[in-house]
Amino acid sequence: MTAIETAIGEPDWRRAADLIHGAGTLALACHVSPDGDALGSMLGLGLALARSGKKVVASFGDRVLEVPRLLRFLPGQELLVEAPAYPAEPDLMITFDASTMERLGLLAPHAGKAGELLVIDHHVSNTRFGTVHLVDPSAASTTMVVEELIHRLGLRVDRSVATCLYAGLVTDTGSFRHSVTTPAAHAMAGRLLETGLRPEELARELWDRSPYAYLRVLGAALGRATLEPDAAGGHGLVWTFVSRADRAAEGLPYDEVEGVIDVVRRVDEAEVAVVLKEDDDGGWNVSTRSKGVVDVARACAALGGGGHARAAGFSSALPVADTMAALRPLLTSSPPHLPSPRTEP
Ligand code: AMP
Ligand code: MN
Ligand code: MN
Repeated sequence: MTAIETAIGEPDWRRAADLIHGAGTLALACHVSPDGDALGSMLGLGLALARSGKKVVASFGDRVLEVPRLLRFLPGQELLVEAPAYPAEPDLMITFDASTMERLGLLAPHAGKAGELLVIDHHVSNTRFGTVHLVDPSAASTTMVVEELIHRLGLRVDRSVATCLYAGLVTDTGSFRHSVTTPAAHAMAGRLLETGLRPEELARELWDRSPYAYLRVLGAALGRATLEPDAAGGHGLVWTFVSRADRAAEGLPYDEVEGVIDVVRRVDEAEVAVVLKEDDDGGWNVSTRSKGVVDVARACAALGGGGHARAAGFSSALPVADTMAALRPLLTSSPPHLPSPRTEP
């Protein structure tokens, strides 16, 4: 492959490579409730390193270490270890797709005690919480940064590694539909396909299958979707929620409802779409999407979350109506001097 143009300086690439070459065990961690980019970037680099003879452990800081069903096809899951087996004070810890230390959940204390902390990410909001940073806000996915790192480490991208990297690339670009879909993103996809991976197989796993129970829960959520034409600065808001009672009635696990926002956000009359999802512990995770006028990252950050201008989220312990009451006034148009908004989780 050819080196992609990045916002990351040569000294950072060199320092990252030196740290990895010099480390004994590498402790990898991605953000909690991992998506395709979080797991794909972590397992992709993990597999490439493990194949080169490095000792690698990987994890994420959810209370229960369970890979979402949609992502169970990803290679490299044999690298995953539960929190007790994860080094308490790693010599070198590497984080993936996490914009803040808090996004590491239960593994945040491990990151705090790591000798060196290499942060690999593409969120513009990244707080640079490590000792070395490979953070490129112009990258469509964290897997784009990882592909370049693998290249610079002299490691091989075989079909398994490519599958992980491609999963992050297609999920974060929304199958090459979002505004982050650059020529570099397509060029990377081309390189990954050269390894023989089957894009139709990934697409089916990621988007084109679900249990029957999903249709029932989706139907309930869509049935109560509310359009507020005057909200979001008069640009329109559409929102709905999925409670744990909805899911319990159909026996649907929490991780199956991630795609509800992709249906809700298609509404023409709304600039902003919001889906509130209750997890098994009664906490709510709120997904927000905008079409470019409203900066949802700013709104979510004000409520303790974050993300990208067109795709962001936050957690809430409040009842649905109260969460919406807190969010609604924050959904205002971006001042014109803000950089052009980006889309992608
Ligand atoms: P989601 O709606 O869960 O797909 O999340 C969209 C994007 O919002 C993610 O990729 C993250 O960048 C960000 N995000 C979601 N939840 C949070 C949170 N609790 N804190 C910070 N960022 C978040
Ligand atoms: Mn992510
Ligand atoms: Mn990402």
